[in-house]
Amino acid sequence: MFNNRIKIKELLAQEPAGQQVTVMGWVRTFRNNQFIALNDGSTNNNLQVVLELGKFPEELLKRITTSASLRAQGVVEPSLGKGQKMDLKATTIEILGDSDAEKYPLQPKKHSLEFLREKAHLRFRTNTFGAIFRVRHALAFAVHQFFNQKGFIYLHTPIITASDAEGAGEMFKVTTLPMDGTAPKNEEGAVNYKEDFFGRATNLTVSGQLEGELGATAFGEIYTFGPTFRAENSNTARHLAEFWMIEPEMAFCDLEDNMNLAEEFIKYIIGYAMQHNAEDLQFLDQRLAEEEKQLPQDKRSEMGLLDKLKFVVDNQFERITYTAAIDILRESNYNKKKKFQYEITGWGMDLQSEHERYLVEKHFKKPVILSNYPAGIKAFYMRQNEDGKTVAAMDILAPGIGEIVGGSQREERMDRLTTRMKEMNIPEEELWWYLDTRRFGTVPHAGFGLGFERMVQFVTGMNNIRDVIAFPRTPGSAEF
Ligand code: ATP
Ligand code: MN
Repeated sequence: MFNNRIKIKELLAQEPAGQQVTVMGWVRTFRNNQFIALNDGSTNNNLQVVLELGKFPEELLKRITTSASLRAQGVVEPSLGKGQKMDLKATTIEILGDSDAEKYPLQPKKHSLEFLREKAHLRFRTNTFGAIFRVRHALAFAVHQFFNQKGFIYLHTPIITASDAEGAGEMFKVTTLPMDGTAPKNEEGAVNYKEDFFGRATNLTVSGQLEGELGATAFGEIYTFGPTFRAENSNTARHLAEFWMIEPEMAFCDLEDNMNLAEEFIKYIIGYAMQHNAEDLQFLDQRLAEEEKQLPQDKRSEMGLLDKLKFVVDNQFERITYTAAIDILRESNYNKKKKFQYEITGWGMDLQSEHERYLVEKHFKKPVILSNYPAGIKAFYMRQNEDGKTVAAMDILAPGIGEIVGGSQREERMDRLTTRMKEMNIPEEELWWYLDTRRFGTVPHAGFGLGFERMVQFVTGMNNIRDVIAFPRTPGSAEF
């Protein structure tokens, strides 16, 4: 048996008492031909492996270089040095994989996040990314735990879709037709997708919601958690071309139930990470504090990362209508002093990220749920309110991020829904399967979409969304 190792995280939680163990990992540093700082990815804390001087051959010592992998066996004893409670006194060291330290791209110094993005295949081996991706894992696990405990069914909605009526964003085409101009044409001279792989034009999904509604109107409550694609050419710190979205959909549910669930859900997964990843979050809290020291006073966050997370878990989100938000924005000093790049033109306008961030960061200083938006700026499936102007939509805005959740109560009344589709030129024939949910036992229902990476950004305090997904896909970039 090869894998008789103990993970370093587990070992460090024990008391050093002469136990015999085997560990395996990658060398972070090797000092004085005696002290190896060994990391195996289970924690940011390294295990100090101590080699007695003169006991190991010179050829072996030479191969203990930064990022070499090795197996060490020995006895665990209280450490004589400062900074760690235990040492592993090595009896045997076996190099598993050599690493040419001269050529290894990561040096034992601080690298910029931009530099590490170019080395995304190795950045997991740094403390910052080690912490981020363990927290990301915990959040993903907590998502499943939350919904499972509530009896939701995890539904896998398709990645390749034929419906292009969702209107959630620009789509990537999926085709096997040749791109060199020889693709078959129809009578109008356009590409004939009837001859394509699926016999029709297809895209990568921008949302699993419509399919999710099919599940909710049978199982009662479902959620999806999968990759989502948007060909939006927006090079921002909050947009990816490929991101992960969580979309719960609930039958017998109105807008307020929907908001309650979203708030409970967000608090739950943050709480889970705080409980299970305290060390990693502490590390990220310090990292952010260091980073913010470089900023002028007025650009720094008012709260540290851990304080912010605790504050969000312990306090109610602010809930206001879109109409009230427009009033606040219009009356704000920011607006009067013309500090917004996009002017507040009045009721009916779509809110820009700077407006959302003003509301959460400057005005309320906490997460805000905005509801009842003008119908004109929202999707066809959102439930029409009695005022004839607004729909039962809600967005959740988070400090430092802006929009993190978008959701709504869905229009369950067939006549209202089809009238709206006509107004928006959405062909009924294409969505016949969707409309069947309204034909056969329609129910009030609602749901929302949470962008998983934006949530990870919020919890880790990372400014750029590219640093919270393993292999970011953005305009002009799909390396690794
Ligand atoms: P935004 O206005 O920020 O582009 P949106 O209105 O397009 O967002 P929705 O269509 O409501 O967003 O999608 C639901 C959620 O998915 C958003 O609240 C956000 O958290 C996330 N999201 C949307 N687009 C992206 C993207 N390109 N990259 C990462 N996350 C995204
Ligand atoms: Mn968008």
